[in-house]
Amino acid sequence: MAPFHAVIIGGGGTGAAVAHDLTLRGMKVTLVERGELTSGTTGRHHGLLHSGARYAVKDKESAVECIDENTILRRIAPGSFELNDGLFVALTDEEAAYSHELVEACHECGIPARRLTREEALAREPNLNPAVKLAVQVPDATMDAMRMPLRFFATAKHNGATIKPYHEVVDFVRRGNAVSAIRVRDHTSNKEYEIGGDIFINAGGAWSGRIGAMVGVDVPIRPSPGVMLAVYGRLCNMVVNRLHASGDGDIIVPQRALSVIGTSSWVVEDPDNLGLPEDHIQMMVKYGSELVPAVRTAKFRAAWSAARPLIGPRGADTGRELSRTFKCFDHIDEGVEGFVTITGGKATTLRGMAETTANVVCQKLGFPVPCPTRDYVLLPHTAYYA
Ligand SMILES: Cc1cc2nc3c(=O)[nH]c(=O)nc-3n(C[C@H](O)[C@H](O)[C@H](O)COP(=O)(O)OP(=O)(O)OC[C@H]3O[C@@H](n4cnc5c(N)ncnc54)[C@H](O)[C@@H]3O)c2cc1C
Repeated sequence: MAPFHAVIIGGGGTGAAVAHDLTLRGMKVTLVERGELTSGTTGRHHGLLHSGARYAVKDKESAVECIDENTILRRIAPGSFELNDGLFVALTDEEAAYSHELVEACHECGIPARRLTREEALAREPNLNPAVKLAVQVPDATMDAMRMPLRFFATAKHNGATIKPYHEVVDFVRRGNAVSAIRVRDHTSNKEYEIGGDIFINAGGAWSGRIGAMVGVDVPIRPSPGVMLAVYGRLCNMVVNRLHASGDGDIIVPQRALSVIGTSSWVVEDPDNLGLPEDHIQMMVKYGSELVPAVRTAKFRAAWSAARPLIGPRGADTGRELSRTFKCFDHIDEGVEGFVTITGGKATTLRGMAETTANVVCQKLGFPVPCPTRDYVLLPHTAYYA
């Protein structure tokens, strides 16, 4: 019998990876998700397996996390990625000059990066703006935003985890200063009941602040939405990025027969109320077509918004200046036992986020089991339904 019961709140990629990790370490695991699995930010992101190049100049910690996890995910989730690489494309002299800083920063972070001439870039991507001056090639890749984390759910379930979609945490039960149970509403039966456990893990992404508030702790999360635009047609085969410090509409990810252009950035208080500003959609067309002119005439497929769970203080900013790194908070620091939060990060770094969290959990419980997930090949996503 498992010595400890870990209860995870949030069925996005982060919760999935934590469930997988703790199950393999020998714990009893229950995960609750208020909607369908991956119905939060995870199922609505760009689908870019980051090489880290995007963060190499200004956010090195995040860049290193991305390249480390990019390498591990290729190994443990074979077949989940289109190994198409990414191009950072310079359209101005200033951007071409910036390529030196980018390549150097990539190398400092351990990210393979190679400068291509204009002709080499156009040979790889004929639809690029012909004004391209040069490009830098990096190991970005395309992933399926839902199926990749579903492999973590599938493997966790196969190894004994209980996964409960449509179960929303509505309250916490405390015994003294320790959390002893969650109160959940089962949206399929409309019934409420309690689930007890030894440790409770808040993997609520952009909602982690709200979940923390139910326990009376402060999670310094800034929900930061971005708009995405999908158009018909595969306008590029590689991930195409603008070669500059990050900005709006500067990434195009080919997803099957679509091209997805993103994204913008602002901050909100309520992660359930993001809106979809029309001017942001127009911005995606404007800046996307500077990279690949065919974006301007491509047929509209869909536009949506999703919120990044960024860690940072409150203030008047757009979210761009906040790091994409992740952090695990042990709320014993605020006098609450048995409750930790994992937030921030990227879909790319889900496994690493889980490793950090599981290490904290094991240390708290006095259960020293090393992380087993770096080489453990995941089941296919279809196994979730088997
Ligand atoms: C526009 C945009 C584009 C992005 N593109 C990329 C990209 O290309 N590549 C990349 O690596 N990263 C990308 N990201 C970042 C990435 O999407 C997120 O970092 C990641 O998906 C967060 O996963 P998560 O599991 O932490 O959060 P989520 O997926 O949001 O999971 C949290 C879950 O908690 C659930 N929940 C909330 N409240 C409760 C409750 N009371 N009870 C039970 N469950 C609850 C929610 O329903 C949700 O499903 C992008 C983000 C945005 C916004």
